[in-house]
Amino acid sequence: MSTVSRKLRWAVFILQLSSAVGLCGCATLGEFNSATGRKEFILIPTDAEVSMGKNIHQEIVAQYGLVTQKAQLDRLQSIGRRLARVSDRQDYQYNFFLVNGKDINAFTTPGGNVYFFVGLLNKLTTDDQIAAVLAHEIGHCAARHTIKKYQAQLGYNLIGSIIFSQVQMGEGVKQTAQLASNAAMQLAMSAYSRQDEYEADRLGVKYMYLAGYNLNGMIETLQVLERESKGAKPPLILSTHPYVSDRIKAAQEEIKSASLKYQSMAKKN
Ligand SMILES: [Zn+2]
Repeated sequence: MSTVSRKLRWAVFILQLSSAVGLCGCATLGEFNSATGRKEFILIPTDAEVSMGKNIHQEIVAQYGLVTQKAQLDRLQSIGRRLARVSDRQDYQYNFFLVNGKDINAFTTPGGNVYFFVGLLNKLTTDDQIAAVLAHEIGHCAARHTIKKYQAQLGYNLIGSIIFSQVQMGEGVKQTAQLASNAAMQLAMSAYSRQDEYEADRLGVKYMYLAGYNLNGMIETLQVLERESKGAKPPLILSTHPYVSDRIKAAQEEIKSASLKYQSMAKKN
């Protein structure tokens, strides 16, 4: 697309947006996010996000298959739920799934679904280490990194129509959900920005602290990833979560200040 037509699309979008806001007074516009401390421009309503997540889930089940081995799944889900309770984002329910495959990876899709590969679970030994991965992924949810990635891909015209459709009883929800496909699943596994990764680590430390996990689990998990990255085939999680040695340093700093920052919040939980 040429720069001119891109600019034109933007102009049309902003126009549509401003009139849509006038019409529906969308609560999702420019909302303050306590996870990031920023005002965020999220246009996709939560119900649309949850619908997208459900469709992508079917795709993941078809392509990889889920593990339903009770002991492993119970462990993952109970750790996940304990962390989800302290997440800054509570407008949807979090779900935790164990994905069949040797990949050393975990990822999150819109709507609060967190996927953990058996390959990664087998490399971790303690609940604190598993909590580190889940808390990081919940951090991506709370900071709305995941839905922002989709928002950027969906295209502004479509998002404009979603906002309009909100007025017309959920047509936008249907349209957004229909976008879920193999491509949407791939998008879930695609890279976040470096800044988003650090933010998810920071929030991960926060949620581990508030849920009462040992914060060293975060460092140990990153060290496991670092060791794995020295093998012949670096784990997939590192292609989406780069700079592991830098992340270890940043996480160590974060852990040092965690009790000072979060102690007063912990008392409320
Ligand atoms: Zn991440």
